[in-house]
Amino acid sequence: MKPQRLTRREFLRSTLGSLTLASTGSAAGAKPNILFIAADDLGYRELGIQGCPDVPTPNIDSLAQNGVRFTDGYVSAPVCSPTRAGWITGRYQQRFGHEFNTGSEAQAGPDVGLPLDQTTLADRLKSLGYVTGAVGKWHLGYDPKFHPLKRGFDEFFGFLGGAHPYLPTPGRPGAIFRGTERIEEREYLTEAFAREALRFIDAHHQQPFFLYLCFNAVHNPLQATEKYLARFASIQDSRRRTFAAMLSAMDDAVGQVLARLRQYGLEENTLIVFVSDNGGPTQATTSRNDPLRGFKGQVLEGGIRVPFLMQWKRHLPAGRVYGEPVIALDILPTAVAAAGGKIEPGSVDGVNLLPYLTGKATGAPHQYLYWRFGAQAAIRQGDWKAVRLQTGEWQLYNLREDIAESRDLAKENPKKLAELREAWESWNRELMPPRWGAPRRRAEPGTRVRRRQAKAG
Ligand code: CA
Repeated sequence: MKPQRLTRREFLRSTLGSLTLASTGSAAGAKPNILFIAADDLGYRELGIQGCPDVPTPNIDSLAQNGVRFTDGYVSAPVCSPTRAGWITGRYQQRFGHEFNTGSEAQAGPDVGLPLDQTTLADRLKSLGYVTGAVGKWHLGYDPKFHPLKRGFDEFFGFLGGAHPYLPTPGRPGAIFRGTERIEEREYLTEAFAREALRFIDAHHQQPFFLYLCFNAVHNPLQATEKYLARFASIQDSRRRTFAAMLSAMDDAVGQVLARLRQYGLEENTLIVFVSDNGGPTQATTSRNDPLRGFKGQVLEGGIRVPFLMQWKRHLPAGRVYGEPVIALDILPTAVAAAGGKIEPGSVDGVNLLPYLTGKATGAPHQYLYWRFGAQAAIRQGDWKAVRLQTGEWQLYNLREDIAESRDLAKENPKKLAELREAWESWNRELMPPRWGAPRRRAEPGTRVRRRQAKAG
């Protein structure tokens, strides 16, 4: 068929039409929405797609089936707050002294929080024209100057600390805020966060949005409602049963959010990341990390290697399993690149993963990944990992052959260990001392023996 020539009026109309479409975010090529979903203390093993045998997570798993699953996805700390400081800035948090948890509100001084000279992902996306919302756990400072609304977010619903009960406590309001107003939440908290995420999408589906959705599931305390507990009547251990119910509730919540995106036709124009903030504290909550060694609070693999998924339909391959080491610091530059923004060279440690996932770039995104958490340290290079335990002893592992870090090769291969230690020292010289110390943990009833794993929020 012969192409028709458009009259000037028709041309204008069609151009304006596509501009309108673009501004609603529904046209191909429009800025994608960014949906960041975090789980809390979810161990490496605790998704169906990660091999979990007793808790189905079909909605979260769908992100891997429709996108990318990172087998070697890390966070930059083995506990909540410093990991969050890392992923929200794209920088190793020890560069700005955010090495440890903030502690409770009573413990944290007015200067304990994400330093104000740091630029957040929300700041960056806001300047690119995004509306930005945070729902869930914040854990980057209590003082008003550290509030999400001061750190690039237009809206906030959630709590500021490291943990919060899930069940309502009538007459004894918790610490849930809408904006800066404390409210009394009457729903199971995971369901409340889903409700607020849907509300945010309903309000902003016609413009590019960034939703930072941080569930506190499956962090302590172990609490669930009968609706979810009933699904796991076959699990005998009551703690495991409650954990399963909490995880199942979070999976339902993720399913609701994904369904809402589909309802607005936004699924293909939304970059979705799912990640846990640290490994499982197995003894405290049953959250499992196997086959990895170690737990939350440790820089052994079980503390820092986490479930990590990324979906962006039609942009990223479906069902890809990506094995090169990546880190949650990469989320910021990846999201900014997807949004069409630029990162000043040298200003972040993360790497834009998009070219690696689409095959435009080959090789590994990182030559080294590094960790420092008080006396503990680690460095990964390719298959190799050197780790300094709390005792000060350095060990060397080949993760390709020994994912469980069970055979210390330090004596067998001192040259490799020396090389890695030197690279770690070089990185370490760029860091500053922690701005505050590791918080002393108030003993919670019944948790005394579990402190080692449960500490740190
Ligand atoms: Ca955590």
